[in-house]
Amino acid sequence: MIKICADNLPNKTFLTVEEMKSIVKTAHSYNLTITAHCVTNQSALNAIEAGVDGIEHGFNLADSTLVKMAEKEVFLVPTENSKWYMNRYAKLAGYDESELDWINNYMTKMEQRLSKSIKTGVTIVSGSDNYTDINTTRGKSSKDMFTYYFEAGMKPLDILQSSTYISAVQLNKENNIGYIRPKANADIIAVKGDIKNDFINTINNIIFVMKDGKTYVNKTN
Ligand SMILES: [Zn+2]
Repeated sequence: MIKICADNLPNKTFLTVEEMKSIVKTAHSYNLTITAHCVTNQSALNAIEAGVDGIEHGFNLADSTLVKMAEKEVFLVPTENSKWYMNRYAKLAGYDESELDWINNYMTKMEQRLSKSIKTGVTIVSGSDNYTDINTTRGKSSKDMFTYYFEAGMKPLDILQSSTYISAVQLNKENNIGYIRPKANADIIAVKGDIKNDFINTINNIIFVMKDGKTYVNKTN
């Protein structure tokens, strides 16, 4: 997979449609998925016109852009986190308690964007974008993305699919990851609870972890 920066805000650099078309053509000739980092709606429109397979972040996608994405089967990787995560991030970044109102506005906007994407029929591929250090474990930080997806109205089983086989297909890796099938990598977890009706508690109650065929956690007895 190749990720390009259709825009690079706050730096003012943008790829043109022609440049992206050339990149897409070359990437596709090598059977590589190509996805574009897009903060502005315009750069997402340009990237879609150029023929990319996916849009990363898409913080400012217009409703009409979502319709285009659904029509052209361009996937979206919504890289947001829960309010808890954002508050923690903002405090560590030095924001004052009184300056945190933007988080509510941001979260409302992002939740609306994700729920509109789902209603419009845009394929959602999971991605946390969690490269920032918020003084917690990488696992906890990554699982936080599930909380945001759920709070934005995504259904539990859709969240699981976006995080497993839908991602695998978009990466051209469906023979190795994201599926339980012969010859696929033996990477599997089991959770205990009611995944449909009690999603957050259940997804955090991991009782079995296997990686490359080796068992690391087993609380199934
Ligand atoms: Zn990015």
